[in-house]
Amino acid sequence: MPIFPLKVIGGGLAGTEAAWQIAQAGIPVILYEMRPLRPSPAHHTSELAELVCSNSFGAMASDRAAGLLQTELRHLGSLVMAMADKHAVPAGGALAVDRAVFSQELTQTVANHPLIELRRQEMTEIPLEGITVLATGPLTSPALGEALQQFTGLEYLSFFDAASPIVAGDSINQEIAFLPPATTREKPLTSTVPLTANNTCISGENSALPNRPR
Ligand SMILES: Cc1cc2nc3c(=O)[nH]c(=O)nc-3n(C[C@H](O)[C@H](O)[C@H](O)COP(=O)(O)OP(=O)(O)OC[C@H]3O[C@@H](n4cnc5c(N)ncnc54)[C@H](O)[C@@H]3O)c2cc1C
Repeated sequence: MPIFPLKVIGGGLAGTEAAWQIAQAGIPVILYEMRPLRPSPAHHTSELAELVCSNSFGAMASDRAAGLLQTELRHLGSLVMAMADKHAVPAGGALAVDRAVFSQELTQTVANHPLIELRRQEMTEIPLEGITVLATGPLTSPALGEALQQFTGLEYLSFFDAASPIVAGDSINQEIAFLPPATTREKPLTSTVPLTANNTCISGENSALPNRPR
């Protein structure tokens, strides 16, 4: 017999969608998010579903893997997709979003749902009673990571990635940048910037990418 409310740990992309779907099904749910009390190494805000790196959800065309997944999510009433569509920005054939308003409105919508209780709390143990959705992503806090190691009996639970720099479009040196070849099927809206070891962005004086706004 399930014990209500259900719990979702992690207010990222997966956790907010899970909490929303559970609540929309009429089941009360507690969504635990550790930020801002405990920051992660890559997140910069306290908003739910913060995009830590690229603001792209991938190709929109439904004959591409990402586009097909987006279409299926829309049919299933996905809140993340509704917000992504609402706050989309031009990105050629890709679905890219204005990351700030995307996360802000998603946070407000989730927090205002009458069946969702948003708790700003780090969970350090896997709850043993009731139903829990664990959605703490690749940057699961160390304490919960240890609990997960004990639970699964696995020594390593690894994820390795890098955050790409975010640059202001008008700061790109257009004498260096160029548009992709005309063979791509959509009108190109992204610039390609050739980089060498000497001008690999951020701080070099000769850099093609001088500014990295936060
Ligand atoms: C540096 C970096 C760059 C990335 N770049 C890309 C990219 O460009 N494109 C891409 O598609 N994917 C990228 N990823 C992968 C990206 O993390 C996933 O695509 C996506 O964010 C995963 O969503 P999620 O909901 O699983 O995790 P997240 O969005 O990370 O959400 C997990 C949430 O759980 C919270 N949390 C963690 N531990 C606890 C705890 N113990 N208690 C309570 N809350 C907790 C976190 O604060 C976070 O809000 C990147 C990942 C990293 C680390």
